This record gives sequence, structure tokens and C-alpha cells, in this order.
Amino acid sequence: MKLISVIVPCFNEEAVFPETLKRLTDTMSELPTETYDFELIFVNDGSKDQTLQLIKQAAQNNQRIKCLNFSRNFGHQLAITAGLDHCQGDAAIVIDADLQDPPSIMLAMIEKWSEGFDVVFGKRKDREGESGFKLWTAKYFYKIINRLSDVDIPKDTGDFRLMDRQALNQFLKMRESYRFVRGMVAWIGFNQTFVEYDRDSRYAGETKYPLKKMIGLASDAILSFSNTPLKIATFVGFLTSVAAFVGIVYSLYIRLFTKSWVEGWTFLMIAILLIGGIILLVLGIIGGYVGRIYGEIKQRPLYIVKDKIGF
Ligand code: UDP
Ligand code: MG
Repeated sequence: MKLISVIVPCFNEEAVFPETLKRLTDTMSELPTETYDFELIFVNDGSKDQTLQLIKQAAQNNQRIKCLNFSRNFGHQLAITAGLDHCQGDAAIVIDADLQDPPSIMLAMIEKWSEGFDVVFGKRKDREGESGFKLWTAKYFYKIINRLSDVDIPKDTGDFRLMDRQALNQFLKMRESYRFVRGMVAWIGFNQTFVEYDRDSRYAGETKYPLKKMIGLASDAILSFSNTPLKIATFVGFLTSVAAFVGIVYSLYIRLFTKSWVEGWTFLMIAILLIGGIILLVLGIIGGYVGRIYGEIKQRPLYIVKDKIGF
């Protein structure tokens, strides 16, 4: 008998929860009961609406349903991590609560898993109901991150993914606080494959990923998976030093060998502004890394579970 854990991060999902619960249980019940059993783990990521009550109710009526209730909103990537930490399955599937990832694809993932793949991720073929802006930023984001980092993060994938226990245990050893789960899964290697699917639009409710959170995720991804910005900073610093050196020689020449040395104010201003600007830029990049080092060194728990239900 193989146990499959389905992990669902939920943040203010009362509008979709009942339908999600139904669709997930229906889909998992299609699996042959002689070979497979399943558990559904809902991670309530500090919802301010009725999500927790709905999950609790569901857990009361069904042994397979479990709930981790966070003490506050810790974010999608940590909600996923908590679910993966607490699951018992021989394989774990992470799926969004909003039914954008069709539950039926889980069966295709399990099929691939039974063929011997360790990681099966969902690859989005078509993304219905998402803004042109989101599609455009996503496209360039994957271009940039794959350019900058050593690991190949498959494009058009999200966190909808199945992981085998062995791969999962390796993943769980990574306890960094700034988490870009997609990249971390790509990093562990193993036998990875994908199933393609059409991404539906949200069943109900609104996106819980406003631009601010998207930018946060993108900077975590780049700064955790690449030192290239530091290299660029060094390179820019080097170029500026060369330019500054030329400028110094030029200024001295004007001062010593000509009589027109009060002029050149324009040049001076440009040089100061340019160099000042570049220094601030480089400091900003370094600051991004230092801030993350500071965050990691505190070694705080990644998340705090207030209640565990059904475990
Ligand atoms: N989510 C979460 N914590 C957050 C934000 C989102 O657990 O702080 C969950 C959310 O409930 C959903 C999933 O992460 O199950 C993906 O969020 P959403 O569908 O809003 O993102 P989008 O599909 O718009 O990128
Ligand atoms: Mg969504």
C-alpha cells in the first residue's frame, strides 16, 4: 500500500475551499484502493476569513484530512514547506487551493511516479485567465533566472508537483529561510519529468500573490540561486574605476598644462553623479545579500504551527 500526501497551502480561500475539497477527494478516490491510500494536508497560512473553520469541519468528518494552522501568514513557500515537513506519504503532491491546477493531473503525476520518476512537475501549456502582465513578467523572469543561476529551473512550472519520498527527504534537509521551492527542487536533481496541462483560471476568490509578493519571490529566487549580481557589481565597479582614472589624468592635465582649469565643472558634476550612482547601486546589490545572510544567521524557525489537527 502506498500513501500519497496531497499538500494544499491556503490563504483566505473560503470561497474555493468547499469545491477544492470535493474535487481533491473525488480525484484521489479514483485511485485503486488496494494499491493507494491518501492524506490531504491543508496548511492554513494565517487566513483572516473562514478558511480555518472550513478545514476543521472537514477534518472532523474525515480521517484522511489534516490541518496545520500557522500562527500568522508566513507565505506560500513556507506553507508548502510545512506541509512537506509533516506529511507521511511515499510521495507528496503540492497543489494550489484555487483549482488553477486541475486535480485530475495528479493522477497523471502518480502514473509517472509509478513508472519510476522521482519528481514530476506540472508544466503549464496554456494559462487561461491570467493577465498579459503576469505572463510577460513570468516569461522574462525564467529567462533571467536561468541565465544567472547554475541550476536549470524549468520554465512554465509552478509549485504543482509530485515528489518521491527519497527526493523529498533530500529537499527537507535544506533549511534556508529564503526559499524558492522551485529552484530548490531543481537543485536536488534526481529523475525529474513533467506532465503538461492547461492552467485554468481561478475557480473563485482573488489572487493572493499581489505584485509585492511576486517581486519578493523573484528576488529570493535570484539572490538565493545566483551570485551573478555580485559579479556584475564588481565588473561595473571596475569599469567605473577605469573611467575615474582617465578622468583624474584629464583633470590633472587641464590643471597643470592649461589656463582654463575653472571650466570642467560639467565634467566634475557628471563624474560625481555617475560614480555616486554606481556606488549606491553596487551597495544596494551587496546589501541584498547581506540582508539575507542576516536573515539566515538568526536561525529562526521557518514557520510556527499553532494547531495541528488530525496528525
Ligand atoms: N498562498 C498562501 N500564502 C500566501 C499567498 C498564497 O498559502 O501568502 C496560497 C494560496 O492560497 C494558493 C496558492 O498559495 O493556494 C497560490 O496563490 P494564488 O493562487 O493566489 O497565486 P497565483 O495563482 O495568482 O499566482
Ligand atoms: Mg492561483
